[in-house]
Amino acid sequence: MLQKELLKWYASNQRELPWRNTRNPYIIWLSEVILQQTRVQQGLPYFNNFLEKYPNVISMSEANEDEILKLWQGLGYYSRARNMLKTAQLIANNYQGIFPNNYEGLLKLKGIGPYTAAAIASFAYNESVAVLDGNVYRVISRLFAKDEPINGSAGKKLFEELALQFLNKKDPATHNQAIMELGALVCTPQNPKCSECPLQKSCKALDLGLVRTLPVKLKKLKVKTRYLHYFIFEFKGKIAIFQRPEGDIWQNLFDLPLLEASNHLAETELKQNLLEKNWLQINEEVQFLFQTRHILTHQRLEALFFLVRTNNKPALNIQEHWIEPNEIKLKAIPRLFDKFLDWWKSNDLGNLTLKK
Ligand code: SF4
Repeated sequence: MLQKELLKWYASNQRELPWRNTRNPYIIWLSEVILQQTRVQQGLPYFNNFLEKYPNVISMSEANEDEILKLWQGLGYYSRARNMLKTAQLIANNYQGIFPNNYEGLLKLKGIGPYTAAAIASFAYNESVAVLDGNVYRVISRLFAKDEPINGSAGKKLFEELALQFLNKKDPATHNQAIMELGALVCTPQNPKCSECPLQKSCKALDLGLVRTLPVKLKKLKVKTRYLHYFIFEFKGKIAIFQRPEGDIWQNLFDLPLLEASNHLAETELKQNLLEKNWLQINEEVQFLFQTRHILTHQRLEALFFLVRTNNKPALNIQEHWIEPNEIKLKAIPRLFDKFLDWWKSNDLGNLTLKK
């Protein structure tokens, strides 16, 4: 039977990962939240750091948001980190720190979606639910040679049904992990290793020569370009940062003061804007430092960084904090800010020093 072949393959090919071979729902949940964000190798240090600092859901629930964002820094999609904390608090406060022990119960928790609920229900409680991540969608789409888009609603429904049909009901936990691992190691997006695949004899895509064309995905949403002008305001050896508000990217992370425009501003326009906002005095200079591009899922950020050295503390009116440059490392900051710091570390900015 095909499912048995899959389990046999998994038994001898699975990677040793710290969240495998555990029935602890907290550990499974933590790993899934991180792995939705990044690949296994990149996610491992994050997983270890979180688990070391918060060994259980109660300890995580007692964390403050800044600590969580700091540990999450670099993974992107910070709302996911904030939701993780909220879910931990919900479980600690309303469920005595105990995760519900079935799919439906888990799904009722705000912050836990169908994928994570299925992963916890299956891996921790061996419930017969199919876990569908990107790897599983790909395997199923090829195994059954289905060209419905995997990110469309009809496709999702179809693949859920097929995955459930294919699920080994006697050992759903291992089956789910095995198919995910097969997608990660063998049935890869590019150049799948069909000759090593335990499903090859029944794979319809292989039979029909459709492996390269599957799975099908609907085109991504249009990417919006934003033009950001960042400022290092240096006053008496301190610089201004502020906490980003709700309703935009990177909510609650610390960032540099910035101006956004519909295009990059020329020097005179930039100065004019700063003067109008009272962020600059007429006799002060704006020095260009660094330019970079930063890509998010739906946004392309074209960023310029400038230095303004001033003897008059500007009232930025963004609830700014004036801090020593070395204090930045204690704050949770967006990756774009981090890119600038890398540049800053490798360049001499006179009196303004940033120790590594
Ligand atoms: S035979 Fe190839 S395409 Fe089919 S499931 Fe295996 S690796 Fe994927």
